[in-house]
Amino acid sequence: MKGSNMKLITSLLPHSKGFVNGEWVDALSGHTFTVSSPSTGEVLTSVPDMVAVDCELAIAAADNAFKSWSSLTAKERAMMLRRWYNVLDDHSKDLAHIMTAESGKPLNEAMGEVAYGNSFVEWFSEEARRINGEVVPSPANKQLVFIKQPIGVVSLITPWNFPHAMITRKAAAALAAGCTCVIKPAEDTPLTALALAYTVQLAGFPKGVFNVVTCTRANAAEIGRVLCQSPSVAGLSFTGSTEVGKLLYNQCAVGVKRVSLELGGNAPFIVFNTADIERAVECAMAAKFRNCGQACISPNRFFIHNDVFESFVEKMVKRIHTDIKLGDGFDPNTTTGPLINDAQVAKVTRIVDDAIAKGAKVHCGGKRALEVGDKFFHPTLLTNVTSDMLCTKEEIFGPVVVCMRFSTEGEAVQQANNTSRGLAGYFFTNDVSQAWRVAKNLEVGMVGINESLISSAEIAFGGIKESGLGREGSHHGIEEFTYIKSLCFGNA
Ligand code: ADP
Repeated sequence: MKGSNMKLITSLLPHSKGFVNGEWVDALSGHTFTVSSPSTGEVLTSVPDMVAVDCELAIAAADNAFKSWSSLTAKERAMMLRRWYNVLDDHSKDLAHIMTAESGKPLNEAMGEVAYGNSFVEWFSEEARRINGEVVPSPANKQLVFIKQPIGVVSLITPWNFPHAMITRKAAAALAAGCTCVIKPAEDTPLTALALAYTVQLAGFPKGVFNVVTCTRANAAEIGRVLCQSPSVAGLSFTGSTEVGKLLYNQCAVGVKRVSLELGGNAPFIVFNTADIERAVECAMAAKFRNCGQACISPNRFFIHNDVFESFVEKMVKRIHTDIKLGDGFDPNTTTGPLINDAQVAKVTRIVDDAIAKGAKVHCGGKRALEVGDKFFHPTLLTNVTSDMLCTKEEIFGPVVVCMRFSTEGEAVQQANNTSRGLAGYFFTNDVSQAWRVAKNLEVGMVGINESLISSAEIAFGGIKESGLGREGSHHGIEEFTYIKSLCFGNA
């Protein structure tokens, strides 16, 4: 690694290798792939390009470790997780540097994600001691007790957009429950995952409890198959695209594995005419431009009441001009980084070009920001949008605000729900009965009411419809990694 910003990084990334059974390992083949900065194209380092046999070794290590890890008391596991949290907290800056280097997100945003990611470890260190069972009255002369047990080895496949938090949100819950895990991070951001493995090592976890296998996109399908179908794996938790999620769900069906899926969204952001427009604009800016729009809960379709449409659009365009500064994540003036890779650039460009070709009005942006770098896209606001445009149907995953008009609440809710996705939704109103009504009628798993920050360790995160299965975070997050065993005690 080069550059002054890389100095800090090496303290948490002494090995650019996979982490299996408590050891830093190469791929058996010796193959590697490079990891680059999306901002500058600079090659940061290379990591092992693993395949099925490497992954099988990691699963065997997790399987071996399961018996002793699951036999610890809840308090012992809680204390281990707390130690991990303390190590993470001590190394937050280094983690953020690594994340900025490989993801391009601005350093202060990376610091925010690290704090958010760490908070799941803290939270599940506390929840580990509250995996309570139940005693229920029996209809006969016996005693009925339900206990919760860890499901076993779990596979965790994670995306690049939140390289730290998407791992800790799953792994801390799994470890708290008594499961052991094999993690396959995204090919764009394996370094954060390996740095996390190093923090696990520093915290003193037993070997085999937490394993990381890295691979290229080309080998993801092969490793994914093993992670879904190995007889030693009890369950899968995946965050990523709906397409890949469906494929993995199918593969898990063969062995009837436990499955938790956090997939794509198509979030509506509705502004009613009673809303506090300043607040709505504030929240729209925060929610839309977080991580350059590359978040599954990012608002994808803005539905603005006719009475306030012009005012909302005008304020948003003004804020975009004054607030957003594209650039390298290590530059303190930067508010917004690049898109992660060429595929993302191609996708956002295709969606915006399609809208323009079909008659959308471009208020700002509308094209790539090649003057900043080849993966940057200008923040864009579109109106005159019609339902035949891709921007109303696809998850854009970029810095593009798509504004549409409505006149009645029924119309807004109907349009908001007119999608196969159902992850997050946001709306702004000062009418209390409308707030309840719309909150209940939106077909999503999470709703922000006059609010854009809808995720924290305490909140049950997850979607309905094709946005996924299961919940992460909150006390529900642990349930995905436990099963209920019913005990019937006869009265001898
Ligand atoms: P995105 O399009 O945002 O990259 P993906 O769903 O493609 O989202 O990627 C999320 C994660 O899934 C990444 O770790 C990626 O490597 C992994 N992945 C992609 N394809 C497969 C596959 N066929 N089997 C298993 N994992 C996969």
